Amino acid sequence: MEPLGIYLPIYPVKGYSMTFPILNGNQVPKYPGIDEDHLVSYARYGNRLRITSVAEFAGDDESLVSGRLKVITDFAHWMCGDALDYANVEQWAGLRPATPATSPYIGRVAAVSNLWINAGHGQLGWSMSAGSGRLLADAMSGESLELTGVSSKANWLIPL
Ligand SMILES: Cc1cc2nc3c(=O)[nH]c(=O)nc-3n(C[C@H](O)[C@H](O)[C@H](O)COP(=O)(O)OP(=O)(O)OC[C@H]3O[C@@H](n4cnc5c(N)ncnc54)[C@H](O)[C@@H]3O)c2cc1C
Repeated sequence: MEPLGIYLPIYPVKGYSMTFPILNGNQVPKYPGIDEDHLVSYARYGNRLRITSVAEFAGDDESLVSGRLKVITDFAHWMCGDALDYANVEQWAGLRPATPATSPYIGRVAAVSNLWINAGHGQLGWSMSAGSGRLLADAMSGESLELTGVSSKANWLIPL
């Protein structure tokens, strides 16, 4: 979009995850969940447990900050005690592409008739991918849309 002089207000919101080998499966949740008191979510992948947390404004910095990871290890100890292998944990940080209104930009770029956009899905990119793709494909093919009003608004965009 930059060569067109269009500025997309999509800002990185950093999150962290830690994936622990499971030592004792009986002490680890079988099903994924969200703990709204501790603001973490967790999911089991076979013999590993992944715990994710944190929404941090740190620009494009993807470094692993120990204070943030501690939120996750503290929760892991609280929930699973010694059922996890803390010595062999895999650590990760990534950037969620967030818009000011949180909903993505989906639609046609007003100034260019053959340029469409589907971006800025933030913390729900995976969940919204199939639906957003379907809506965009329908719009591009001139089909009637099953949903409208889903996109963030902007003066450069004809939003869906
Ligand atoms: C911290 C965080 C938490 C999230 N939580 C959720 C959530 O709870 N629910 C949800 O729905 N979504 C969530 N998301 C969003 C979700 O993870 C993304 O929307 C989704 O992973 C995007 O999938 P993708 O395949 O399009 O891109 P990616 O997963 O980014 O995959 C792109 C791949 O292409 C590779 N690649 C890039 N350039 C090249 C190149 N030139 N050559 C070869 N390979 C290349 C990359 O290495 C990468 O493996 C989260 C994102 C983050 C960062």
